[in-house]
Amino acid sequence: MPQQAAPPGPTTGLFVNPAAARRAGFEAVCGDQFARLDLADSAEAALATPDLPGVGLLVIDLDRFDPELDHAGLARLVAARAGAPTFVLCPFANARWLPALMACGPVEYAIAPLDGEALRAALAARLAAGPTPLAAPSPRERALDGLQALRARVRAALGEGEELAALAERLCQALCGWPGVAHAALFYLQPGGDLQLQAQHGERNLNLAKVLGRADRLLQSPLRHAFPGLLAAAANTIVLLDDLDKSGEPRLADALRGHGIKLVLALPIPSGGPGTARGSLCLLLREARLFSRDELDALAEIADLAAVALRIADMNREGEAMLVRVTHLSTLDALTGIANRRQGERLLEGEIKRARRYKVPMALIAFDIDRFKDVNDRYGHPVGDLVLRAVADAARKLVRASDVLVRSGGEEFQVIAPHTSAIDGLKMAEKLRSAIEVTAMPGVDRVTVSLGVAQLGEHESADSLTVRVNAALARAKRAGRNCVELAMG
Ligand code: GH3
Ligand code: MG
Ligand code: MG
Repeated sequence: MPQQAAPPGPTTGLFVNPAAARRAGFEAVCGDQFARLDLADSAEAALATPDLPGVGLLVIDLDRFDPELDHAGLARLVAARAGAPTFVLCPFANARWLPALMACGPVEYAIAPLDGEALRAALAARLAAGPTPLAAPSPRERALDGLQALRARVRAALGEGEELAALAERLCQALCGWPGVAHAALFYLQPGGDLQLQAQHGERNLNLAKVLGRADRLLQSPLRHAFPGLLAAAANTIVLLDDLDKSGEPRLADALRGHGIKLVLALPIPSGGPGTARGSLCLLLREARLFSRDELDALAEIADLAAVALRIADMNREGEAMLVRVTHLSTLDALTGIANRRQGERLLEGEIKRARRYKVPMALIAFDIDRFKDVNDRYGHPVGDLVLRAVADAARKLVRASDVLVRSGGEEFQVIAPHTSAIDGLKMAEKLRSAIEVTAMPGVDRVTVSLGVAQLGEHESADSLTVRVNAALARAKRAGRNCVELAMG
């Protein structure tokens, strides 16, 4: 009878872990399950074992191994088994080991931490299975069909649009189409560095914002070491919590169990830069189960795809923010920071419509610096510029929040004053005149302004109002300057 078909009996074992206490602990708890158990403190020591493929079961306890430093050695160890079973005990918070080692040979796993009894049971199940892999949840072809369908759904979801929130929502929806997934969520690092719950989909009564206590500033959450979605983003690793109690957070475990969740798997969304994640995809399943290498690979590919789509969405978002900034700038006068002429015309049209709709008065004030050409001639253009700014500042301090101050031309300004009658407009103009007259001007003795005031007529257009207010201003100039004139009806 070939050895493969023999009923599983006590077999030899090799346990690998760098910590002496863990090696001793494993020997004490599980030693009697093996015909003989050897212990090794490193991949190199294990590789020195004569006839490595002949060892019945290789057990690698990944606790204390470093995914960066120790990966090459452990990968060689798995490969050196030449197909013989390897069982890894993988910390839930560092499941990125799994696809990496699965790529080197047949690897089965149990998620740690496991207490003594659970460890004995996991090992007994592995030993009883003999050479048959534990991780055969469904026939391979069917599983692959499922993955193909998932990938296609995700591609369709990501291909559809550019808006970040909608994209994240569709991605979560697509992930919920995978058998067993009850709920899916996307955590995303915002440009300022704030990790947020960007989208979630699935169980209607399950709200992860409630379970986690909040939806933003999640890198500061006390659950960032326990909840897979947060841990995957914070530590840039796959996190596989196959038993909620392993999180070490009983309240979190209870809350999720209350919604029928048994397993949580999270994958980092790569940032494109080294060492950091841009967020995570988080899947909540109703059944605890093992994942195959194909499944973990497919999910990592989906996270990659999501990263690209989200980056494009981000770029669009930045583009829009830039457009808003540019639009804002194009409405302001560069020298004084107040509304420019074009913006003034636009706002005047708006205020006229409002005044008409609500049947309230509206006034327009125009003012112009007196003999400003002399200021330029005497002190130079740069001083003239400072004076323009000082006049704008003085006027800005006087007008109400609902008024709009506009630089309508070189040294000409307007105040659009909603809810203001001719009488109130005259009072405001007089206040402006006297305030500017006493304002200390940089490099110049003082300047004065002449002002015109007009109240909007019942059917009057913006053009007509502007013509009338400018005519009043011209009359103020002719009347000797530094005074206010009311426009005729
Ligand atoms: P009036 O009392 O009749 O208004 O006399 P004025 O000298 O102010 O009138 P005028 O319109 O002849 O001259 C306006 C001057 O404002 C001419 C121009 O050089 C100056 N000016 C226009 N825009 C600017 C600017 O942005 N900076 C500076 N420094 N001067 C400006
Ligand atoms: Mg002038
Ligand atoms: Mg002028």
